[in-house]
Formats: sequence, structure tokens, C-alpha cells
Amino acid sequence: MISDSHMHTRIFSTDGRQTPEELIESAKKLGISNVSITEHYDMDYPHKDESFIFDLDKYKETFPKWQEYSLNIGGPKLLMGIEIGWQPHLNERIKETASYLPFDSVILSNHIYHGDDIYYSKDCALMPRQMRNREYIGTLARMCREIDDFDIAAHYDYINRYIEDPQSSVFYDDCPEEFDDFFDALISKDKALEINTSSINKQIKKGSPYIMPDPRIIKRYIDMGGKLFTIGSDAHDADKIGQHFDKTVEYLKSLGVKEIYYYEGRKPVSDPEFSRS
Ligand SMILES: [Zn+2]
Ligand SMILES: [Zn+2]
Repeated sequence: MISDSHMHTRIFSTDGRQTPEELIESAKKLGISNVSITEHYDMDYPHKDESFIFDLDKYKETFPKWQEYSLNIGGPKLLMGIEIGWQPHLNERIKETASYLPFDSVILSNHIYHGDDIYYSKDCALMPRQMRNREYIGTLARMCREIDDFDIAAHYDYINRYIEDPQSSVFYDDCPEEFDDFFDALISKDKALEINTSSINKQIKKGSPYIMPDPRIIKRYIDMGGKLFTIGSDAHDADKIGQHFDKTVEYLKSLGVKEIYYYEGRKPVSDPEFSRS
């Protein structure tokens, strides 16, 4: 199965539920050759009783043990990543964090909306869909313009993840200017657009008619010259690794996607599994 470029363990991500051993065994069972573990690093998280940062030195010290475990059981190649949460005042600290360890991949994401995590945010659900999407994609465009030290922009549709209305999704036509700005920032810096299958899973659970990413989003990114795509399950549990990957791959191919990448040593690697699957 194709590489999974986004997931969390309970050892370094506060909301992770799987152990690294469970993760490795699950990926092995699915026949995934490369997995990137991308633990949460959200500085200045608004809920003071929850921390989404971890000890980077400890991570560096621990990661080879996980790699060894995987090697010993014939599991996947484990790549050391991080998911850094962006907020406008964190640019300098993000730069320091991204270069602190020899990461294989640095994912950049935005979880905070109007001062709160979208997971908790009430504002978000009260806003009309178009306005909500425009503001969020505009924020991602700004994030990608202001930061150079990252490889992948995560879950552009996170704004929709906890909206209960099954008719809701993120549509290109909600905010074409913001999408173009976001894509231009990614493409001009050679950064990747992530397709997050946890978002797909949430749409299925809601009974939405819009399960897959809006085809206009994918096509526009390609038309503008976007070539770098990654796929991530964003798994916090072992049974979510590689979730909906087969249908996602098939869907992306139908829209003209030619390659899917994973990151090793901060460099994109075209996954040979994409053309095989
Ligand atoms: Zn995230
Ligand atoms: Zn994540």
C-alpha cells in the first residue's frame, strides 16, 4: 500500500491513542512500506490544561528504537516527522523547531481558529459555510507565505471536520482567490498539498454526499502547476492507518494526479506504489 505520511502515537502526541508498536504492526499488516510519524507540536495552545508540545531531544533519542523494532519484525520504514501548528506570532519559533532535529518531514497545519482549536470552536459552526472556508483558506495562504521551513501543508479542510451538517464541505468555488493564493504559495516554494483521509472518514460518518475532496480543488492545483501531493491518514489509532487509501488513490488518478510523494530527509520521494496500485 502507498505511504502514509501523517500519523500520531500516544508517546509524544497528547491525543494519540496508539502505541508505536501497534502502529508498526498495523502498517505491516497492510503492507505499507513507508510511514511518517508526525507528532503534534502546537506551541501556545489555547487550552492551558492541555499541552501539545513534547521533548524534542527525547523524540530524537526514542525514534531509532522504534525503527529498530520495525526492522526486527519486517515492518515499514519509519520516517521521523513532526506536525507543527501555525499561529501568526509563532513564525520565529516554528523556524527554530523545524531545524532543531534532522526530521524527514515537517508538516505545517493550522488548528486554531478565532483563538480556539477548531475541535472546540463554536464560532466556526455558527458561521456561514462560504465565509468560514474563505477565512480558513486565506489563513493557510498566509501561513504558507510566511513560513519557508516546512514540506507539507496539512488538512486544508480541517475547518470542516467538526461541522455536523452533512451538506458542508470545502469547495473551490467558496473562495477561488484564497485557494489560488494558497496554491501559488505552495507551488512557488515546492511544498506539498496533503490529502487527509481522516477528513474523508468524517464525511462518510456524517453521511455527506461530499466524501472526496472537491474535484475542482485538485484540478486547480494541478492546473496551476502543483505536482507534490502526499496522503495522510492522520491516524491516532492503529486501525485508522491507511484508511480509505485505495479509493483515494483511485480518485486522485481519475483527476489526473500522476504521483504521490513521501518525504525522506526533507526531500520528496515519488512513491512507486502509486503507479502499481
Ligand atoms: Zn492536524
Ligand atoms: Zn495530525
